[in-house]
Amino acid sequence: MEELGKRAMAGDIRAASRLIRNIEDDIPETSRAIKQIFPHTGKAHVVGITGSPGAGKSTITDQLIFAMRQKEKTVGVLAVDPTSPFTGGALLGDRIRMLRHAEDKGVFVRSLATRGNMGGLSKAVGDGIHVLDVMGKDKILVETVGVGQQEVDIINHAHTVIVVLVPGMGDEIQAIKAGLMEIADIFVINKADRDGARKLYKETLNMLNAGNFPSGWRPPILMLESCLEPHSFAESVEKLCEKIDEHYQHLVEKGQLQERALRKIITEMNDALRYAVLEPVLSELAATGEFESMVNKLIDKETDPYSLAEEVARRFIKR
Ligand code: GDP
Repeated sequence: MEELGKRAMAGDIRAASRLIRNIEDDIPETSRAIKQIFPHTGKAHVVGITGSPGAGKSTITDQLIFAMRQKEKTVGVLAVDPTSPFTGGALLGDRIRMLRHAEDKGVFVRSLATRGNMGGLSKAVGDGIHVLDVMGKDKILVETVGVGQQEVDIINHAHTVIVVLVPGMGDEIQAIKAGLMEIADIFVINKADRDGARKLYKETLNMLNAGNFPSGWRPPILMLESCLEPHSFAESVEKLCEKIDEHYQHLVEKGQLQERALRKIITEMNDALRYAVLEPVLSELAATGEFESMVNKLIDKETDPYSLAEEVARRFIKR
């Protein structure tokens, strides 16, 4: 396993793929490899791309790879797919198209399907980014399927967050609800060929006009041409690529890159603690059946969750 870390750092694609698969499967030894590579991380520009399923994130990512390669940047893509009882991980289907970059040595695309329990998804994403980072990728695109809280969590791992909105999905309202307005560094309105694209643009604009931007960065709104018009789509994605670089430049010039890096590190520390402290406790309680009996006690109102948790904490801390 330690070898895997070293080999990934040397750019070994098979080792990196293996490592990502191990992260996915939550193999305990993975942390050894991460320990090894961690000191060498932190060089890449991490760009999160989030939005509802079907919003066009993969289509955009695929085109962004081309745009970034034209600027001679190497690119890593992590397509995060939280397996849920509803999707069963089937959301990856459309990502197959990114395989057309498979021949390009400057591009590394992997999906990351993992169960999202107990901060496990966040930890897996953080570790996955580290792997692409030490492979020496200049830009890392992290595509997250906008399901529940995960779409907001991307901000903890990315320097730049792109929120993809599409007309006719009630995104306007959902965006406010999910707090996307607060996390977006760049808004993209995709499927501009569809009815309602202008309306969505105006609504997003109105919302931005009502906001204030203490960081000094006002998120731009980009209307992407339809992917059904390949040439103009490519051009509009090039503009997106420029905005991504501009945002990075802004972070560097205003000293905000460190703030984002700090947020990333705090998240990782929290995830690691949860993994090292909370997970073993929960596993043991589950394995011994104690968790179930605690739940039963709660159903019967014999006690309350706080008292039980405090009792468990006392017992484990002593140990
Ligand atoms: P993701 O789930 O957010 O990654 O979405 P995908 O990139 O897989 O796109 C979902 C579907 O929307 C695919 O069938 C795309 O071909 C389609 N799509 C993407 N962009 C556009 C667009 O600009 N216009 C139209 N009409 N369809 C699009």
